[in-house]
Amino acid sequence: MLHLSHKFIVHCSLLGCSCTPSATHLPSLEPSPKKPLSPPLPLPPCSHREFCPKPLESRPLQREGGVNNYVKGMKQRTLSKEASVKGKALHTGQEVTLTLKPGAPNSGLVFRRIDLFGKPEVRPVSEMITELERKTTVSSDAVKLHTIEHVLSALSGMAVDNAIIELDASEPPIVDGSARPFTTLIHQCGIVEQAEAREVFTLTHPITINEGSRSIIALPFDGLRITCTSADDRGIHTQHLTIDIDPETYEAQIAPARTFTIYEDIEELLKKGLIQGGSLDSAIILKGDKVVSKEPLRFKDELVRHKILDIVGDIVLSGIRLKAHIIAVRPGHALNARLAAAVRKQWQEFKAPKAKAAPANAKIEAPKAPMGSALDIRQILNALPHRYPFVMVDRVVELTEDSLVAIKNVTINEPYFQGHFPGQPVMPGVLQIEAMAQAAGLIMLRRGAADEAPKVVFFMSADKVKFRKAVTPGDTLEIRAKLTKVRGRIAAAECECLVNGETVSSADLLFTITDSGAEA
Ligand SMILES: [Zn+2]
Repeated sequence: MLHLSHKFIVHCSLLGCSCTPSATHLPSLEPSPKKPLSPPLPLPPCSHREFCPKPLESRPLQREGGVNNYVKGMKQRTLSKEASVKGKALHTGQEVTLTLKPGAPNSGLVFRRIDLFGKPEVRPVSEMITELERKTTVSSDAVKLHTIEHVLSALSGMAVDNAIIELDASEPPIVDGSARPFTTLIHQCGIVEQAEAREVFTLTHPITINEGSRSIIALPFDGLRITCTSADDRGIHTQHLTIDIDPETYEAQIAPARTFTIYEDIEELLKKGLIQGGSLDSAIILKGDKVVSKEPLRFKDELVRHKILDIVGDIVLSGIRLKAHIIAVRPGHALNARLAAAVRKQWQEFKAPKAKAAPANAKIEAPKAPMGSALDIRQILNALPHRYPFVMVDRVVELTEDSLVAIKNVTINEPYFQGHFPGQPVMPGVLQIEAMAQAAGLIMLRRGAADEAPKVVFFMSADKVKFRKAVTPGDTLEIRAKLTKVRGRIAAAECECLVNGETVSSADLLFTITDSGAEA
């Protein structure tokens, strides 16, 4: 604790520094070219003015329509030249130099450890995460990288797709605890557009992750919007903010927000060997309901803005530029990492069927025409009482005494896509069950085809129902049904639906066959 007291009390003496936010204050050492310097300070300049707040008026954070530059640009972006920043690593306390360099198209945000033999490179993704206490740490083979979230946040928030982040240690410098030193560095490098198109992923379905009183939800959205509520365990310092992230809002509203820590936690963190390089230069300290910081708060809700900064950095580990509305309540690195992993999984599943799809110029083989035991649509309509829009079988390609293979072509013209969901068409799971029931019913109806009276099949129960993947327009649903038990007019069947040979849903069905017009 002595060590702590010494370190923090020394810096507390700087609280009397003349830096106060004012309209005449210098915005930063490296302002954006679009934002000219304010008039020079009339007062003697402070010794650490690059970390002083720039005046930030409040302004509406949400944009009409939700579309923004974070994802709108069609081309990838990188840096035009390299630039470096030096400082202390927060957790190890080491002196470290970070250099940002241009990256090749499609290379992503890549760390390079020049202090290690062979200068190994790591493009961090969620599978590499090994520690999440107070920082995001990734490991690949023998290469470890700590506290990578602030520099990743700056690059992603400024819409830089490809860059090399060169380090001569395992951790970037913490500098002032915000991402502003890195957005400043990005301006020093300059941003250039590359010829290659940018890949962006819109969530196909919502993601919800809960951990006790913490939660994070991501919804499909045309842009990157983050809604965040931050609060500590004591229920104080509660703050809330919604913001659409694009390079302009990110740089002005999010990047300057500094990291913070609770005073009572500091001793424990130091015992664990964490925050060795911590000081009031690099963090806001919360002591009870008081806020202690070397310079005045940069925003009255600086804490929630830093939480948003961390989310922007941590979701880079999904490996894809994301369009989503993220709603977070008391988030932390562990929760953010789980979201990044879930986004990554959804993105990889979304890409998988496309990877298997035939090349554009390849001949697409139509399903075989019904032959022998198979049924075409007229025969199906003769057998089934269902009519538009409830015919869920287009063709039967194979029919035996106790099994059937049928297909249903799913098109955007299906009436249910109007409401399920606008802009995000997904075939309702219950209609896949209906398709299975009609397929199984067809086996029973064909078995009784010699009977004189017309028949209708009624569905009695569904068991072991599983939905594994979303079915979307363009998919051909292959419906497989096999009778497992027939007793009188009651039958059981094991059924599944497949797309591209992969099971998308399955169920065990029980149904009965009755004379058409009879009471069920
Ligand atoms: Zn942070």
